[in-house]
Amino acid sequence: MGDLLGRYRSLRVFMDACVHCGACTDKCHYYIGTADPKNMPVARQELMRSVYRRHFTFAGKYFPSLVGAQDLTEELLQDWYKYYYQCSECRRCSVYCPYGIDTAEVTMAGREILDTVGIGQKYTNEIMGKLHRIGNNLGLPGPALEDTLLGLEEDIFDATGVPVKLPLDAEGAEVMLVTPSADFFSEPHVESLIGYAKVFHAAGIKWTLSSKASEAGNFGMFIGSYDNMRRAAMRIRDAALDLGVKRIVVGECGHAWRVAYSFWNTLTGVGHGGEDAFSKQLQQQLDPNYPAPQHICEFTYDLIQQGKLKFDKSLNDHRTITFHDSCNVARGSRMGDMPGGQFVIPREVIKAVANNFYDMQEGTINEATFCCGGGGGLLTDDLMEIRVKGALPRMEAFNNVVQDKQVNFLALICAICKAQFTKVVPYYGFDMSMIGGVHQLVATAILLEVPEETAQESVASDD
Ligand code: SF4
Ligand code: SF4
Repeated sequence: MGDLLGRYRSLRVFMDACVHCGACTDKCHYYIGTADPKNMPVARQELMRSVYRRHFTFAGKYFPSLVGAQDLTEELLQDWYKYYYQCSECRRCSVYCPYGIDTAEVTMAGREILDTVGIGQKYTNEIMGKLHRIGNNLGLPGPALEDTLLGLEEDIFDATGVPVKLPLDAEGAEVMLVTPSADFFSEPHVESLIGYAKVFHAAGIKWTLSSKASEAGNFGMFIGSYDNMRRAAMRIRDAALDLGVKRIVVGECGHAWRVAYSFWNTLTGVGHGGEDAFSKQLQQQLDPNYPAPQHICEFTYDLIQQGKLKFDKSLNDHRTITFHDSCNVARGSRMGDMPGGQFVIPREVIKAVANNFYDMQEGTINEATFCCGGGGGLLTDDLMEIRVKGALPRMEAFNNVVQDKQVNFLALICAICKAQFTKVVPYYGFDMSMIGGVHQLVATAILLEVPEETAQESVASDD
């Protein structure tokens, strides 16, 4: 703890500044869903603050019982494990704290200490093992990935008659897309991957996926290990250098975008951070006319603004849509060059491709959004009960627009939200087909030019 207090000045401020005003107590979705008082954000902080007082304050050292200071016992460590893994690091509570105390950072510090003393979480550690050994969270090896992409190209061609490509390891492409590996074959994730491919095709931009960087997700953030987080991020820098791309675009994944937007610069030098030779080489290589990195929603939005994409919005008329702001995007990052761009841009993309859109109620969207309940390393069946309970506030807000506006589609820009909601919405009486990606909507409405020879073949076979 002493080491972390020295490294992160914010942590010491968070330990000292709380006045126990109670403004954060009912703001956490896990507290709302479980009614467990230890899930109040201030109580979650107190698990660490009591130990901080014992070792780092005068009163705590000499009069521990008077100031609620306590030693870090085995029993207390068990509580740390339980409650730091019942926090998705979503930062909602910090929005309401008059001092801006960020429980997510306290949780991250708690997990870092747990990791250091050898108390790890099986789910996130296994995922990191797969990432380091095979290259992505799902453990999908390069040849399997190649087969999957070829299969998708065939599916798109059969459905549209357009030879949309999903290139892998194409050297000299303009854009390298880094996306969560769930996009390669999980439903509904894959529908968004098809959407990205169609956007690149329609805009005539050469792009590629990378077998080395076949995972945008970075669970290093969840296990509280800077080394793991950096190692995971470095694969992306290496792939960008190997392939010689000019731009790096990140697919629909909330925490991946938070890591990319907020940490890649100092972790890897993507975005004017690193001072080492490879960082500088990458900065020279990347096109300064575009943000590095860029979110896929920013990318598509820019093309829409330039009039480079054509849509038939009526193709989405069977859908009445609402949008869930992913917590990591809403409160851990930004998009575009306007304040609040991360709220505006995905909604503008949806409105450009669909006619029927309604927001959920104020206080549950934008910076006040609720986490899906499965973020921060909780997306494991072992934690199903807390995941279902943690989804409660989002499900209540969703239910309101389902009742009032007949909404039948919850649009997302996060792989974890997609996996979480498809699993938990049945507990709330909804069908998992109501869950999908923003680029799934783009894929439905985008108009692609059918090559003449395909069109002629189709006419001939109709005859
Ligand atoms: S899950 Fe979110 S709202 Fe709850 S304590 Fe953690 S950061 Fe705060
Ligand atoms: S809102 Fe801030 S100051 Fe008030 S109890 Fe919560 S963390 Fe402490």
